[in-house]
Amino acid sequence: MTPNREDYLKLILELGGDQKKVSNKKIVAGLSISGASVSEMINKLVKEGLVEHSPYQGVQLTAAGLEKASTLVRKHRLWEVFLVDHLGYSWNEVHDEAEVLEHVTSSQMEQRLDAYLSHPTFCPHGGMIPQQGQTVHEKGRETLVNYPEGSTIRIARVLDEKELLDYLMDLTIDIHDVYTIKAIAAYEGPITLQNDQKEVSISYKAASTIFVDLL
Ligand SMILES: [Zn+2]
Repeated sequence: MTPNREDYLKLILELGGDQKKVSNKKIVAGLSISGASVSEMINKLVKEGLVEHSPYQGVQLTAAGLEKASTLVRKHRLWEVFLVDHLGYSWNEVHDEAEVLEHVTSSQMEQRLDAYLSHPTFCPHGGMIPQQGQTVHEKGRETLVNYPEGSTIRIARVLDEKELLDYLMDLTIDIHDVYTIKAIAAYEGPITLQNDQKEVSISYKAASTIFVDLL
């Protein structure tokens, strides 16, 4: 699937691009596409006034970009909650469905869905669901790769990305899990996590998209 402009806006937001610059490299990793395609789309988004781009630093959403991304993210995440809580989906299965649904959801349906779900504030991946008309502000968090061995962390939010979520399901890593960082391999090697129940090794790439709270 070729990601469209809205996927870019959402990903930039998910990577913290409402408050700081997000590198092209992170966008390439998040969408699993070539650097050239990312550059091309970023140029379009800059022309449309949805992002600002600084060479070598990356992109940040403008107010208009943030507003557009927030509406989509809200619809997307409300559907995720619905699919997981009411239709028995697991968190790695909801992305594609929510991706389709978000584009055909009117603002009235969005309001009804929100009320039906009793106004949830987080999606199954730990992402914030803004109120209607509000913008998304994810809590500023570092990713798993930013903490030293011995740190105790809680998995607080992960990117809503199928490949990543499948991988985490295989490792039986779940949102809100608490682990101690037992070992960090050199040269961006795997990171070993441990708690009472298990010990798991997670790739550096995946760890760099997992946002954690330090306990
Ligand atoms: Zn989500």
